[in-house]
Amino acid sequence: MQAIKVPFLKPTDIDHAVRQILREYGAWREEPAKPPIDVDEIAEGCLGLTLEVDDLKARLGMPDVLGATWFEEGRICIDRSLEDKEGRFAFTMAHEIGHWQLHRPVFEMEKVTLPLFPSPGGGTATPAMVCRAMEGKAPVEWQADQFAARLLMPSAAMRSAARDAFGDDVAAIEGLDASRNTGVLIPPLRSLADKVIAGGRFTNASNEAMCYRLLDLKLVVDADENRARLI
Ligand SMILES: [Zn+2]
Repeated sequence: MQAIKVPFLKPTDIDHAVRQILREYGAWREEPAKPPIDVDEIAEGCLGLTLEVDDLKARLGMPDVLGATWFEEGRICIDRSLEDKEGRFAFTMAHEIGHWQLHRPVFEMEKVTLPLFPSPGGGTATPAMVCRAMEGKAPVEWQADQFAARLLMPSAAMRSAARDAFGDDVAAIEGLDASRNTGVLIPPLRSLADKVIAGGRFTNASNEAMCYRLLDLKLVVDADENRARLI
């Protein structure tokens, strides 16, 4: 669906892009960014984008659309269905900021053709990134998701919150690897995530997003792996 072809980015490239926007945001706010990271303020205040919440599903005729970014107009729109779901709303906003930061330069340099969609502001169809649920793993969407997780849960703040929650030991959970292979987030992992959300004030991160971030940063490991490490 998306016509935009993006260069391969390593996780460290995405880390770098997130550190950069957090620095710019901190300078704009005149205080270092800290959780909960106000992604609406980053988009609207720091980046000067127009934010809208609208019935995108009806407007674009797509039942599974979550958010969209119109590069040419500097406009981000989030679907109204996410309005009362703080974690998913913030993640989608952070994901759209990811498209803006990572992919707008590609769009501008290469003059790639994005699919045309009517602007929420009315008027003629304009090119837009349109982000849907269950979109699969197109690199452009994967990169924006990785950016979003890092923006809402920056690694330094995560490490410090994990230290506060678990001490200097890595948190270890029995059966973690087996559960990961089946794509299930088991209750002990979910409760660790709740603890880090509360302790680190990541209050606009969903439990699910926090579980994946803890795994990604290896702040929680399988108990077997931990025992092997200690021998
Ligand atoms: Zn997207």
